[in-house]
Amino acid sequence: MTPHSLSDRIATLPKAELHLHLEGSIQPATVCVLTARHGIVITEEEVRRRYAYRDFPEFIETFKWVTSFLREPQDYALIARDLAEHLFTQHVVYTEVTLSIGVMLLRKQQPEANFEALLRATEQFESRGLRVRWVFDAARQFGAAAAMEVVESAKRCNSKSIVAFGIGGDELSVPTKEFRGVYDRAAQLGLHRLMHAGEVGGPEKIREAIELLGAERIGHGIAAINDPQLLDFLAERKIPLEICPASNMNTGALARQLKLQNATIENHPLPKLLRHGIPVVLSTDDPAMFHTTLNEEYANAARMGLVEEELARIVEMGFEHAFSPVGEGRGA
Ligand SMILES: [Zn+2]
Repeated sequence: MTPHSLSDRIATLPKAELHLHLEGSIQPATVCVLTARHGIVITEEEVRRRYAYRDFPEFIETFKWVTSFLREPQDYALIARDLAEHLFTQHVVYTEVTLSIGVMLLRKQQPEANFEALLRATEQFESRGLRVRWVFDAARQFGAAAAMEVVESAKRCNSKSIVAFGIGGDELSVPTKEFRGVYDRAAQLGLHRLMHAGEVGGPEKIREAIELLGAERIGHGIAAINDPQLLDFLAERKIPLEICPASNMNTGALARQLKLQNATIENHPLPKLLRHGIPVVLSTDDPAMFHTTLNEEYANAARMGLVEEELARIVEMGFEHAFSPVGEGRGA
């Protein structure tokens, strides 16, 4: 798809990208470089075949496969440089990049060494107008003790550029309340709190993340569409949903939430959520793995029927709900 319905004005506006996984941003050509570094020759076509999924578990399998080639700090530096160059093409000037620290720890890596390499790789982009901030992310299915280790590694890395702690992964695994102590600790360390909720899980996961853990933004949250009271709650509390349309199509999350055999982009609830007064930020989630870009997501929003002023408002909200001080993101 081309962003044919997107005006030049929206396409070229400086943007913030707030829900973006580093490990989901590895373009097929870079995957080939990575695998070759570790002795495995693979074609781009083969990578593209793996970058296609029928459902969420298949996507998770591919995510595991790609990340299995992230073994040394310089591997992380390579993919961060690649991502930054890609973000320039999308007019992104501020981003909060999610790092799967939980996966690093599972693989017995040193998050501090990887993070140091990431900082060195991305610092040079500040002078070109791209500010990169980091979200330390735990995998829900690994449990609360492993998640606590992620928070502690954020403390050890001791960098102001780490702005938040979050949890992603299998939403249907460990109950929300088990992470209470982990989020309390994150708050104590001055980290903002995020959680993927209501992506494939029900609306109660969203409410729990906010009420039990103090989540300040919700990753996806499209299940809210199935709970009118929750829609009012999100609008009143002004809790932003990080909406990633291409991701929801590719993982089958949209069809699942709408109880449809096949969902189309026009079925996405983004317009309804926005017009209900819920703050939304538009994001790509895993752009390489979902074959999308940030401008393509704005084009998707236009396909859903949002008018130009609404798209411009969403661009604004990306900065308003960023975790770095207001105004800093636009180079003002
Ligand atoms: Zn995500």
